[in-house]
Amino acid sequence: MTEPTRLTLAIQKSGRLSKESIHLLKACGIQFQLHEQRLIAHSTSYPIDLLRVRDDDIPGLVMDGVVDLGIVGENVLEEARLERQQEQRAASFTALRQLDFGYCRLSLAVPNEFDYQGVQSLNNKKIATTYPRLTEAFLRQQGVTAQTVMLTGSVEVAPRAGLADAICDLVSTGATLEANGLSEQDVIFRSQVKLIQSQTPLPEAKQSLINKLLDRLDGVQLAKESKYIMLHAPTKEVQRVASILPGAERPTVLPLSYTDEQVAMHVVSTENLFWETMEQLKTLGCSSILVMPIEKMMR
Ligand code: ATP
Ligand code: MG
Repeated sequence: MTEPTRLTLAIQKSGRLSKESIHLLKACGIQFQLHEQRLIAHSTSYPIDLLRVRDDDIPGLVMDGVVDLGIVGENVLEEARLERQQEQRAASFTALRQLDFGYCRLSLAVPNEFDYQGVQSLNNKKIATTYPRLTEAFLRQQGVTAQTVMLTGSVEVAPRAGLADAICDLVSTGATLEANGLSEQDVIFRSQVKLIQSQTPLPEAKQSLINKLLDRLDGVQLAKESKYIMLHAPTKEVQRVASILPGAERPTVLPLSYTDEQVAMHVVSTENLFWETMEQLKTLGCSSILVMPIEKMMR
């Protein structure tokens, strides 16, 4: 008997990326049961097995071809790539999609009392970070010589603890920096989450499963960005209404019962409908204007 074809996808087991990774897979019709203790979750609705690991392990698993796919932040991915390149280990992967979540930036920050006059102020200083290679690459590019101190957690307390003069850490709102008396100075890397694929050649059946998954991901993304707009418009104003609606070159125009003076117009718009546009439509005599989210879409 031949092995059934199944994909393997590494996702973060628990942390900032887990919930959204799972949510996205579910939106693509991939159902599974997660058990706290289990490393692997088999999907019952798509031939895919999820490997649930620490996010730091995901780039290596993909680059070594242990799994077919991975969902991981670009910060972790790029740091792993630089580290593996230095060590002359496999460091390549194929980037499939940006997944539009997990946004953060890797920034240099210094204690509020530090007289920061630009990145040059970090010459000969100690910088605590979980991302030494990204940090060093940036400093090198800026012609700054500084020493990085690797810390895997609590980076923001390093200056106060006397371990470093500055830090290079992930920021999303800046609240953690502020709470620790630090001020953000230079953004060195902007990150979001990516779906990546191993460069190990796959049998056609597996590649077509990946392609089908990508189509579904694109459908989810497109739906997220789109709105379904319905309204009643004066029949004589259909052209003008269509010119105001975003992305409505060819609206569906339907007759209304018991009147010729008004029609119903339906539009799938790739932009949101702002209040100002709705007010403009109302001035043209439109009524019953509805803007609805779309759950799924396929072109
Ligand atoms: P693990 O136990 O899996 O190693 P972790 O503690 O390293 O988890 P998380 O804090 O869960 O990692 O963050 C995972 C990823 O979330 C980060 O690598 C980054 O890509 C993204 N992220 C988004 N916003 C932030 C933020 N404000 N701080 C840290 N990471 C963020
Ligand atoms: Mg981690």
